Amino acid sequence: MPEPGAEVEVLDARKLPIGVALYNPASRIRARIYSRAFRSADSAFFREAIARAIAWRRRFFDPDAQSLRLVFGEADGIPGLIVDSFVGQAEGASSSRAGGRWLSAQFLSLGMDMRKAEILSALSELFPSSGIAERSDSPVRAHEGLSEAVGLLAGEAPEGLVIRENGLSFAVDLIGGQKTGWFLDQRANRAASARYASGRRVLDVFCNAGGFGIACLAAGATEVVAVDSSVPALKAAATNAERNGFASKLRTEEANAFDYLRLMERSKERFGLIILDPPAFAKNHAAVEAAHRGYKDLNLRALKLLEPGGILVTCSCSHWFGQERFTAMLEEAARDAGRRLRYVEERAQDLDHPIVSGYGESRYLKCMIVEAG
Ligand code: SAH
Repeated sequence: MPEPGAEVEVLDARKLPIGVALYNPASRIRARIYSRAFRSADSAFFREAIARAIAWRRRFFDPDAQSLRLVFGEADGIPGLIVDSFVGQAEGASSSRAGGRWLSAQFLSLGMDMRKAEILSALSELFPSSGIAERSDSPVRAHEGLSEAVGLLAGEAPEGLVIRENGLSFAVDLIGGQKTGWFLDQRANRAASARYASGRRVLDVFCNAGGFGIACLAAGATEVVAVDSSVPALKAAATNAERNGFASKLRTEEANAFDYLRLMERSKERFGLIILDPPAFAKNHAAVEAAHRGYKDLNLRALKLLEPGGILVTCSCSHWFGQERFTAMLEEAARDAGRRLRYVEERAQDLDHPIVSGYGESRYLKCMIVEAG
């Protein structure tokens, strides 16, 4: 009977060792393997594992100049740990010492939560002067018997952190923003969407802090209507638009997305480009059918608002709602809307969120770009 959070050996059916894992009898995921070699999950382990994760990302990114996800849990061999790195300027700070790096961490399993000190020591060694925020306010912690925790673990929180993405500036709220403060996984999809935006009127649904819409404005969109149900998110979107010189071209609308699309349909509004980036509708397998109805309703309504030849950028971040399901849903929506789709791009999350075999949950974000005839 190992203690909760203890390091345990995992054996296969023939009693041959597979690796070492962190044990949690209270979780349905009883043991999470962190190494094939027999070693302790101490600060040296975390330092090496995090350094490996960073080294892989250097192929695609410059971690010293760009904000990115440094550690993506199981996909980086560190189950239950997420670390995002935000490189930017603290607004209001004197320009000489304004720049810097802040980390935002989520400890999502008991084993990781109990090793916070070791992880912090590894992170502080790799990034000596970085502030570190904890954003363990994810509901998945309840499945591990953990309560939510938010706060500062090291250094100071920046006054108002502004990062750069695809050549644009965005404010990131490390403590108060959603998830770790910014949806880094959509970086490449924002740039991809912007390629279709020139001369078009854009509807950015589930806009959060305006990442997609502002990328479209920078690429020549005539106007963006940005919709979200969260007032803080809309405020951030408006400020971000202003920060990039597009204050007069972005209008925010506080609304439930489903209601807003219906309203636009009634008032016969038309758009040249629509982005749908909803939260995960299916958090588990049992929720897939209900999620299908939700996604279809959204996509059907959006297709009806598109002018002929208009572009729909439609996303789902539910692993459980897979690519085949997503395509089937879109086919149904197209049929019901009487629109013929040309599938232009089938995209996933950006490369700082690696997809690995044996861990299907790492294949989660779908971003389809289609043209509606
Ligand atoms: N597109 C954003 C990320 C979207 S996250 C980006 O590029 O960063 C999902 C967003 O949907 C959140 O901002 C959340 O506030 C919003 N949201 C959730 N349910 C909603 C609903 N029913 N109607 C409108 N917005 C909703």
